[in-house]
Amino acid sequence: MSTALPEIPQERRLVTAVPGPKSAELMARRKAAVSAGVGASFPVFVERGSGGILLDVDGNSIIDLGAGIAVTSVGVSAPLVVEGVQSQVEKLTHTCFMIVGYDSYVQVCEKLNELTPGTHEKRSALFNSGAEAVENAIKIARAYTGRSEIVAVEHGYHGRTNLTMGLTAKNMPFKQSFGPFTPGIHRVPVAYPLRDTRSGEEVAAAAIRRMESEIGGSNIAAIIIEPILGEGGFIVPAPGYLPAMQKFANDNGIVFIADEIQTGFARTGAWFASEHEGIVPDLVTTAKGIAGGLPLAAVTGRADIMDSVHVGGLGGTYGGNPVACAAALGSIQTMEELDLVNRANEIGEILTTRLAALAAELDVIAEVRGRGAMIAVELVKPGTLEPAGDLAKRVAAACIAEGVLVLTAGTYGNVLRFLPPLVIEFDLLNEGLDVVGEVLAKEAANL
Ligand SMILES: *Cc1c(COP(=O)(O)O)cnc(C)c1O
Repeated sequence: MSTALPEIPQERRLVTAVPGPKSAELMARRKAAVSAGVGASFPVFVERGSGGILLDVDGNSIIDLGAGIAVTSVGVSAPLVVEGVQSQVEKLTHTCFMIVGYDSYVQVCEKLNELTPGTHEKRSALFNSGAEAVENAIKIARAYTGRSEIVAVEHGYHGRTNLTMGLTAKNMPFKQSFGPFTPGIHRVPVAYPLRDTRSGEEVAAAAIRRMESEIGGSNIAAIIIEPILGEGGFIVPAPGYLPAMQKFANDNGIVFIADEIQTGFARTGAWFASEHEGIVPDLVTTAKGIAGGLPLAAVTGRADIMDSVHVGGLGGTYGGNPVACAAALGSIQTMEELDLVNRANEIGEILTTRLAALAAELDVIAEVRGRGAMIAVELVKPGTLEPAGDLAKRVAAACIAEGVLVLTAGTYGNVLRFLPPLVIEFDLLNEGLDVVGEVLAKEAANL
């Protein structure tokens, strides 16, 4: 390790209330300096992190069950990421890859082409954010097919730029007051097992009927789906749904895009979540877990599709910045060396077992679902499927006060999602889940 900082003990330790006085002071400054439109899930400021711990500015050690929304899968400031960034940043911070190249960009593309589903010939292009990758995947699909129309699904999330807001299903907080959105976007049903008892094939058939009757298959450039819907609440589409949607795409010359920005890079116990259903997407979008926290995103896909765009049609000033690429190479190397794909499955075992035990005791938990280290519980009013969004919010707030960071999600805001760093120690994970269990039991009793 090239860092001289003392190691952070992997234990939950509170030395003040959370938030403490320094966080409170920073929150006040934040309020005066930062746009109110930028939200904050928790009124806490963090100074450092490592493994499964975030150390806040008041010296509290908080168990991290969110990984910055599935970004720091290798942990915050993972050693190989730090080393890669440090050695890169003193050599070359930027050239603009569209002007002159550097090899780390090519290496990241080679890695993406190797790791994403399918053994066909692939190409990649790098960008800065997930939304930008999604926008570019749509540009590529439109250029390749010469068609305009795009299909997204209910509960889907694809970003906050104009095009990706249009693709995103949920209004608040993502779309409210920000329209109109780009034309040519259509939404079809997704198989949401808890709230729809039809089989995956049946829901896909309904979606396909809708596409055929309302758009026409030959007008559709792309279908974009998250193989597990992230912001939508870790909805795992019923088996058969994704393959049927992909088959319709293939049969109709439609580019099938898997948005693996949240599910990718070992998170679900496979390199990519498409693998669980044997899906081989035409294009895959990645970001979040790719670079250990540095801004990087990519589109990877079939060489003929990726190369169909005119020269100069893709790019951006910063896309595939050398420092971000170095971070990605360090992050991917960490995943390989520590076998984080397997570790995600072990974490998934612990999460599922513990949360299922909790669900057996608490009738506010309607379902435990997800794959690997991407697991959620959906909270409802007991005996109904009525979403308990307030409860999820209260639990997350009470957990951080106890030194455990857990995120919410879901179209109805009633999902607690667990996305720990894949390097978290199992004892720490279990301790975090102890706290979540106690808090949830207490809050559910006050429903
Ligand atoms: C987070 C996310 C995005 C947007 O990524 P940004 O980097 O925030 O622009 C797109 N798609 C999915 C599935 C995501 O989870």
